[in-house]
Amino acid sequence: MDPKKVRPESIAAQALGWVDDKTRAITPPIHVSSTYLRDPDNQYRSGRVYARADNPAFDQAEAVLCQLEQGSSALLFASGMAAATAVFQALSPGDHVLAPKVMYWSLRNWLMNFATHWGLQVELIDMHDPAVLQSAIRPGKTRLVWLETPANPLWSITDISATAAIAHAAGARLAVDSTVASPVLTQPLTLGADIVMHAATKYLGGHSDLIAGALVVRESDDAMRAWWQKIRMVRAQLGGTLGSFEAWLLLRGMRTLYLRVRQASASAQRIAEHFAQHAHVEAILYPGLPGAQGHAVAARQMVGGFGGMLSLRAKGGEAAAIATAAHVELWKRATSLGGTESLVEHRASVEGAGTPAPADLLRLSVGIEDAGDLIADLEQALARAHA
Ligand SMILES: *Cc1c(COP(=O)(O)O)cnc(C)c1O
Repeated sequence: MDPKKVRPESIAAQALGWVDDKTRAITPPIHVSSTYLRDPDNQYRSGRVYARADNPAFDQAEAVLCQLEQGSSALLFASGMAAATAVFQALSPGDHVLAPKVMYWSLRNWLMNFATHWGLQVELIDMHDPAVLQSAIRPGKTRLVWLETPANPLWSITDISATAAIAHAAGARLAVDSTVASPVLTQPLTLGADIVMHAATKYLGGHSDLIAGALVVRESDDAMRAWWQKIRMVRAQLGGTLGSFEAWLLLRGMRTLYLRVRQASASAQRIAEHFAQHAHVEAILYPGLPGAQGHAVAARQMVGGFGGMLSLRAKGGEAAAIATAAHVELWKRATSLGGTESLVEHRASVEGAGTPAPADLLRLSVGIEDAGDLIADLEQALARAHA
């Protein structure tokens, strides 16, 4: 398959058209070896040494993801957190980084606790406002700008091109957590980002059966190539390496990525519109609604939909939100997102003190069930919670 001649849907569906030379198998085997044979003359001509550093089980999934994101190289990690933290750990103590106030909670926690103790100067700002970024960035001092769009759990939108321009003018790099958009809806590297990160646990895997992470890079110059080598070394040395079976599951999941994300996005749009003006709903947070923060930017940088994630703020506050979650039957009460099954979660309970999530907020991850069934189930749960 010549990836330049076909659309990404075809690349994903056939995992780049790979066929095993020896057996003619259309799906790859699972390589489980932890170690590789050294040549008699003491060389490692295979390029493989030990599976903490690298594993043939990663080759296809990394190649597919690299194509979908239009990058120059990709790395799989043991989790989204392992991928994200590797980017920061390849910096040096004393470096200044900017990250959003509203972002994936566990990463924010790690930045504010571990990373600052390790010596990074972490500053959290309202990343979706370019004027705020412009005044916070320190030319020559800020090494990295990190953004997430749409951002957990309010689904605020940040303009990737505008942020990249400001970061680059100050000599900083831009990394984008694009987990929620997935490569189906947004390709941050084509909008000026240097690194894109995915919790592959979510849409890329897509079946709630694996924990994995990924980074894709655009090695635009020597400094970026050197940073990428350091990130690769962080994976090998800290050991945030994916398992072989998880890599295989990820490759299988990505074959249906486009079908799943488009279905989830279309259903999320329908659900958002249905509940936007509803007697038991205070507000729907979804970038696909015309009044939403960043809707115009999202319409530009997300192609073919606004994603499968939205939040519902229940009338009646925290108790009504938790009662609504208690009464769903088809939706499942669970954390995570991006799977085939729809999930509902009271975010403030998970995040605890300091959370930007309002107490009345339910985070909804829309799966690939029938949208009418999902709407009917939420309708009855809201009615019972408000009875
Ligand atoms: C889940 C998630 C992560 C972390 O990924 P894990 O695989 O759980 O470590 C990071 N960012 C976003 C936006 C996520 O949804």
